[in-house]
Amino acid sequence: MSEIKKNLLGVKQRIEKAAQRAGRDPHEIKLVAVSKTVEVARINEAIQAGVSILGENYIQEAQKKIDEIGKRVSWHFIGHLQSNKAKYAVRLFDMVHSLDSLPLAEELNRRAEQANQVIQVMIEVNLSQETTKFGIDEERVLNLAKGIQNLSHLSLEGLMTMPPYFDSPELSRPYYIALRELKEKMIKEGVLMKELSMGMSNDFEIAIEEGATFVRVGTAIFGPRK
Ligand SMILES: *Cc1c(COP(=O)(O)O)cnc(C)c1O
Repeated sequence: MSEIKKNLLGVKQRIEKAAQRAGRDPHEIKLVAVSKTVEVARINEAIQAGVSILGENYIQEAQKKIDEIGKRVSWHFIGHLQSNKAKYAVRLFDMVHSLDSLPLAEELNRRAEQANQVIQVMIEVNLSQETTKFGIDEERVLNLAKGIQNLSHLSLEGLMTMPPYFDSPELSRPYYIALRELKEKMIKEGVLMKELSMGMSNDFEIAIEEGATFVRVGTAIFGPRK
């Protein structure tokens, strides 16, 4: 069995166990295999092993891979998106996890309308007030969500966050609790959404315990990045 397949099976098993611990149906949790810096041959190996959603961070890098591999899998954009790349994001991706401003939402919507497409989006929330991280502040999320709801070619699916890196995954938990509570608050305010994109290689089990519906896992599947 290939290393990637072995890793993938291990990750899937851990997802299932974490879901069971939390009393959740493991099928609610979708695995995004994060393939930034990973070459096409190894991505194909992952697809062969059963990966069906791939996550990429950079438009140019993704474009080459998607042209080669095609859309037999679903491609999700998880990196920081600049407005001038919105056109490519619409063409290449089914979902953008990292929407963090209204101008960007409006540009994506304009491009999606031109392409006669609806693009699924999540709002990236910055819960750690770190200046180095992307995402919108918690207080401004409701406003952005309401703005997105007025855009005909965007479908708001949920919230995404990325906590600071901790050696101990347990330290991510407060951020994942906060994102879940924010989603619940938004629903009370009339913004319907069902997804929570949270959890990476080092802490996805914690994220699942706190309600993640998408986990974004790179190194635990593909090994360390160069
Ligand atoms: C790289 C990346 C991941 C995956 O990180 P790993 O630690 O390799 O699992 C997840 N989400 C985002 C936004 C990333 O940039």
